[in-house]
Amino acid sequence: MLHPATELRKINDQVGYGIFATQSIPQGTITWALDPLDQIFDLTKTEQLDHQCRELLTKYTWVNTHGQRILCWDFGRFMNHNCEANSYGLGNCQFEIAIRHIAAGEELTSDYATINLEEPLVCQCGSSRCRGIITLEHLEDIAPNCDALIRSAFTRIHEVQQPLWHWIES
Ligand SMILES: [Zn+2]
Repeated sequence: MLHPATELRKINDQVGYGIFATQSIPQGTITWALDPLDQIFDLTKTEQLDHQCRELLTKYTWVNTHGQRILCWDFGRFMNHNCEANSYGLGNCQFEIAIRHIAAGEELTSDYATINLEEPLVCQCGSSRCRGIITLEHLEDIAPNCDALIRSAFTRIHEVQQPLWHWIES
């Protein structure tokens, strides 16, 4: 489930849609949490689907560390990649946290290298630190910085409002 102060916006025909903050979201805020309405597809369940459904799954899901595909029932499936993402996953991606202040009107983004990206992605995020082509191999390089950003954000988790707290498991 996405943070309630977000909305879906069309960016352009090439990128499609994205998730944007409707209010400022402070560092340390949980921006997305896995909830019971999200669908989880293991390999067996995925293989039972026809070709067209599997294509949709590839496009709209992310893969957790158990190799399961997660299909967000809400607009979470439209979260785009950015090489300087403002939201990172935690704890086998049971939730994501704002690793810096997200301004009203800013797009919420995560780093696809951290969610078991299967195919290399040609990135057009526009960041000055854009890595160009996003692959899983980047994870080792970016992980120390990701960890530091998450650790810093995590210290604020009890200082900021958490509308998604209900969905966080202990
Ligand atoms: Zn990029």
